[in-house]
Amino acid sequence: MDLQDIIKAAGIIGAGGAGFPTHAKLTSKAEYILLNGAECEPLLRVDQQLMEQFPDEIIRGLEAAGRTIEARKAIMGIKGKHQEVIARLRARIAALGLAGYMEVMELRDIYPAGDEQVLVHELTARIVPEVSIPLKVGCVVINSETALNIWQAMAGKPVTQTYITIAGDIPRRMTVKVPVGMAIREVIRQCGVENIDDYAVIDGGPMMGSLMNNVAGYVTKKSKGYVLLKKNHFLIRKKSVSVDQARVIGRTACEQCRMCTDLCPRYLLGHNMQPHKVMRALSYNLAGGQEQQIAQLCCECNACELFSCPVNLHPKAVNILYKQKLSEQGIKYQPTQLEFQPRSAREYRLIPSKRLVAKIGLTAFDKPAPMTQVEFRPETIHIALRQHIGAPAIPVVAIGEQVKAGQLIGDIPGNSLGAAVHASLDGTVIGNTEHSIVIKVGSYV
Ligand code: SF4
Ligand code: SF4
Repeated sequence: MDLQDIIKAAGIIGAGGAGFPTHAKLTSKAEYILLNGAECEPLLRVDQQLMEQFPDEIIRGLEAAGRTIEARKAIMGIKGKHQEVIARLRARIAALGLAGYMEVMELRDIYPAGDEQVLVHELTARIVPEVSIPLKVGCVVINSETALNIWQAMAGKPVTQTYITIAGDIPRRMTVKVPVGMAIREVIRQCGVENIDDYAVIDGGPMMGSLMNNVAGYVTKKSKGYVLLKKNHFLIRKKSVSVDQARVIGRTACEQCRMCTDLCPRYLLGHNMQPHKVMRALSYNLAGGQEQQIAQLCCECNACELFSCPVNLHPKAVNILYKQKLSEQGIKYQPTQLEFQPRSAREYRLIPSKRLVAKIGLTAFDKPAPMTQVEFRPETIHIALRQHIGAPAIPVVAIGEQVKAGQLIGDIPGNSLGAAVHASLDGTVIGNTEHSIVIKVGSYV
């Protein structure tokens, strides 16, 4: 089997992002393979600790992916503030004889340094064109946990576990390795909070993560963090606003100051993303929809809503609203140029992470979340068949069947884009719906 087949069989997807199947990312040749080690979401501490604890594995996984796409160079992008991690990786790259192929580049502590297009520009000075992907400028990007998963797949282990930071206004912050399919409620019980119902939980980072309506879901391969905050915290109140409320408030209160545009990371890369114009489109019935169409250039980083707007409006939510409407009508933004230059003011308008953390009221909780050994003993696990972009996996096990940890339980349908899923613990299949496979955990006979 070549590496792509190994990765496909192991069910590897982008860990932490949208969950794009990794084997499909490695089908084309590219000049650079980039490691996204930015971890720019406040409070999350997964990648930085994985790179410290598993440097050889991550280096080897990245190298293997780079060789597969015939990249002439591999670059690891890590924030300069993680000097110990950087020194360790540089030493291991040299010790493994890879100094001619791989280097570590220090990223500035800005938000969103981990946005794929910002990362590509910071590491290569190239700009991914509008509505395009890094491959267009000769780059393939994978994140640290994905590189680790590639190395593990090469050693015969599919993806059955994921690393998660539990953070926020809680007594015990930690980063834990969790079997895929665990109940989220059981995971966050580790944080030391007596009554979880007093809290709201953000699934993911504080910036891009979404508010969980009830903490009833299950861990997937792309779960990266849970942030617990009191229900009256600024972020929770802000994330609780419905799209309809965002639309009504935006119509009446947007003062067209264009701060959301001036600080928008995609606008600063030279793209036509101008959220103030999308907000303007709310108030006027603009013919032609040009201003609504630029909403499709939004990466949903949330900087405009949580940092830039002086009157606390919701340009990102409005962008999402228009994205949905345009998609229903089959309308796609058509770029008018192929080459882009960063705006001349970009260097002065980058968002410092520390200022962002203060602005969103998280400074008091911006603390270490050390890797902690926890042995989870769930009674059941619920493994989703769609944890990734593409077609859901098709179950290949039946109710009553005994399965072993690492066993394939859902496969990619035909030649579709998708990812396989595996049992994360030994047990017996007790449920099999179109959405998930439920396993009663127990010993395998
Ligand atoms: S969420 Fe806001 S700041 Fe981020 S890309 Fe979209 S418009 Fe720009
Ligand atoms: S920053 Fe806020 S008030 Fe200013 S244009 Fe954007 S949405 Fe309107």
